Amino acid sequence: MNPLVSGAIWLSFYLGIVLAPVALLLVAPTPPGGGFWWDVSMGLGFAGLTMMAVQFVLTARFKRATAPFGIDVIYAFHRYLAYALLAIILLHPLILVLRDPAQLSAIITPWDAPLEVSAGTASLFLLLVIVGASVFRKPLRIPYEAWRATHLFLSIGAIGFAFYHLWGVSYYTEASAVRGLWVLIGFSIGAVVFYVRLLRPWRLLHKPFRVVDVRPELADCWTLAVEPVGHEGFLYEPGQFAWLTVDRSPFFMQEHPFSIASSPHPSGRLEFVIKELGDFTSTVGQIPPGTVAYADGPYGSFSMDRHPEAAGYVFLAGGIGIAPMISMLRTLAEREDERPHLVFTGHSKWDRVPLREELSDLSERIDLQVIHVLEEPPDDWDGEEGWITAEMLDRYLPPERHEFHYFICGPVPMIRAMETFLKELEVAPGHVHTELFDMV
Ligand SMILES: Cc1cc2nc3c(=O)[nH]c(=O)nc-3n(C[C@H](O)[C@H](O)[C@H](O)COP(=O)(O)OP(=O)(O)OC[C@H]3O[C@@H](n4cnc5c(N)ncnc54)[C@H](O)[C@@H]3O)c2cc1C
Repeated sequence: MNPLVSGAIWLSFYLGIVLAPVALLLVAPTPPGGGFWWDVSMGLGFAGLTMMAVQFVLTARFKRATAPFGIDVIYAFHRYLAYALLAIILLHPLILVLRDPAQLSAIITPWDAPLEVSAGTASLFLLLVIVGASVFRKPLRIPYEAWRATHLFLSIGAIGFAFYHLWGVSYYTEASAVRGLWVLIGFSIGAVVFYVRLLRPWRLLHKPFRVVDVRPELADCWTLAVEPVGHEGFLYEPGQFAWLTVDRSPFFMQEHPFSIASSPHPSGRLEFVIKELGDFTSTVGQIPPGTVAYADGPYGSFSMDRHPEAAGYVFLAGGIGIAPMISMLRTLAEREDERPHLVFTGHSKWDRVPLREELSDLSERIDLQVIHVLEEPPDDWDGEEGWITAEMLDRYLPPERHEFHYFICGPVPMIRAMETFLKELEVAPGHVHTELFDMV
């Protein structure tokens, strides 16, 4: 299905869910003493709470729901919705206070307020902490794993308090249809948390993998290979990724997303090319063969197999962004693909180009032109220098460039620059596909 059409369908579905409790509010019996602004405030509270509930579903990594967009798009949607829901939920008490300033005391001295009102304040406070910690995680140097675990527990706390507030205050919730809807929403959140934190890890636990190879690559990268133990692994499209847990139970929140660098293999073997960057990735070189691992996948829509009609593919890789590309290139070689393809890589130095020998081998097996662009080339370098530019792309791309599909993966500024250049070269946006390695 056209991504715009499926996007519109999912957006309508989302708005339908978020607005359902507001619609019921209109038909529910009206308690006395309200008024227009009172109703608006209640409506905002209802919509905000439903948006909070949907946030859990968005990050639950349901494959069918994420497949049309790619998980990075879903996470970005989750992030922007968090700002919107925070604004909506802030407006809920603000309107009440503007309407009746005496209500302010319940917010600033919650210990004197009824418990159900204080629960609303607690929920708002947790929401502010959650959004603040997410926005400022990097400047505050909060380790990713600690942030992720806290994010989940605070989110459960925020929605728990919000439900207590709704139920305790119980305005507009007298009608059984309204109560029924909130019970359904509450159970749905419980079911999602149960699935994500217990059922999925339990299923992964019964489908273990074993590390079979760890070998060094250039530029502080490692190839890590795992094979399924007692099961067949899973099918994936070249370019997709998996969440990998090594030497830990899947019940611990210690998983990392990595592109599957291998071509789909009947043995279920998966290879990853991992760059040393932080706590986990710096230890990959020391993982002994035989170590147990768990791979949750496949995820993502960054795959040439979603665009088989292309006249050829152009891969634009910055740094470790080559990982999903090498999966697609290996697959093209195995399929003896006869179409023309190009790969541009951007690196600082020649000895910082991972998989450069394999790229050279692949260019002998298929119609592949490899263009390495170096910022600091060696003295005898006769290739491209500096950064990948629009002029450079224009020089290499064939006349039928508009029928090609383009895959970009690398640092965010590089991705944005490539998107701009391709737009200048009048490549249709639907032919340009990106993968962000930094989604949080
Ligand atoms: C879709 C996708 C595919 C990726 N593919 C590759 C690949 O093929 N090869 C490769 O080397 N890297 C890849 N990455 C990046 C890789 O996931 C991070 O470099 C790695 O998780 C860092 O973990 P760390 O503990 O070593 O570093 P840390 O120092 O703990 O983290 C460094 C940064 O990495 C990110 N990060 C850390 N842990 C996670 C996590 N569990 N989930 C999401 N982000 C995290 C955070 O932004 C963090 O600030 C990919 C990322 C994504 C989102």
